[in-house]
Amino acid sequence: MTKITVLDESTINQIAAGEVIERPAAVVKELVENSIDAGANAITVEIKEGGISFIRITDNGSGIDEEDMPLVFLRHSTSKIRTAEDLLSVSSLGFRGEALSSIAAIAQVELVTKTAEAFSGIRYQIAGGEEKSIEHIGCPGGTTFIVRNLFYNTPARRKFLKSPVTEAGYISDLMERLSVSHPNVAFKFINNNQIKLHTSGNNNLKDIIYHVYGRDIASHLVTVEDDANGLNINGFIAKPIVSRGNRNYENYFINGRYIKSGLISKAIEEAFRPFSMTHRYPFTCLHLHIPSELIDVNVHPAKLEIRFKNGEEVYQLVYHAVKSALEGKELIPSVRLEE
Ligand code: ADP
Ligand code: MG
Repeated sequence: MTKITVLDESTINQIAAGEVIERPAAVVKELVENSIDAGANAITVEIKEGGISFIRITDNGSGIDEEDMPLVFLRHSTSKIRTAEDLLSVSSLGFRGEALSSIAAIAQVELVTKTAEAFSGIRYQIAGGEEKSIEHIGCPGGTTFIVRNLFYNTPARRKFLKSPVTEAGYISDLMERLSVSHPNVAFKFINNNQIKLHTSGNNNLKDIIYHVYGRDIASHLVTVEDDANGLNINGFIAKPIVSRGNRNYENYFINGRYIKSGLISKAIEEAFRPFSMTHRYPFTCLHLHIPSELIDVNVHPAKLEIRFKNGEEVYQLVYHAVKSALEGKELIPSVRLEE
């Protein structure tokens, strides 16, 4: 007998799943991004027990064609790219075709979906990578995913989860970021039967910031906007008086995608520093629009990082936009209303 064997599909999927799905918030992120990619403008996220026992995502997007159903949960199956060349111009949030196969490998999943053209919808169940049932049912257009008992078949992974309250906190933070990343989408977030967040989707970023982050921040916003070399930035920075002790409120999105970037954070902070005390960080909500051929989002499975073809141009754009937004503004109001 040889010492080396090729792992079976379900083991491969469990290993791969670990890269994409490390906690309930990652399930929510992947499924909501799919809903956005499907053109939904209303997305409801419901969780119980921090998302460990129950996550339901309902959207009013395109739905999935019956012919595509056998492919949906396969690894590397995607409707968003066809060739490696397409990677150079990805405009959707997803493209790796890994999320659904990963989630189905390590949870019990129920999918209900219907396209506008189909006469009836489909209900499909899969658990631990194995199909459990498929049937036609009546349902509205769009897609609902229910994900139960995350890591039920990988106890080692389940052990690394934090308490339901902490996991729910991660999801809540994510929902806030998603709400401001897509102000044109109405998001509803329900935790243990309580509505925690409900945005209008009216595409007015300031309204959504008010709703998500409250009046203290919303009443101190300064508009940031600029264009240079085909790049565009617009959004808001809050005045230094509502600055924070950490970077958690530095939100920026590239083509609607929430990312972390040392370069962009540095540009924001350098521009902000002359107006603030040391070790203070601003609240920002900045949308950058960068032609997709100038960035590479295929750096990491979670797609939190991005590579810039011309980082210096991006840095200069952000730095100058933030600096000129703050310059000449009345930054220290004489009365602080919220205290
Ligand atoms: P990716 O998003 O990288 O394409 P996923 O595994 O997340 O890969 O999804 C696989 C495919 O399933 C998507 O390309 C899309 O065609 C389809 N899909 C997933 N979620 C939805 C949804 N909410 N509405 C419509 N289609 C969906
Ligand atoms: Mg996806």
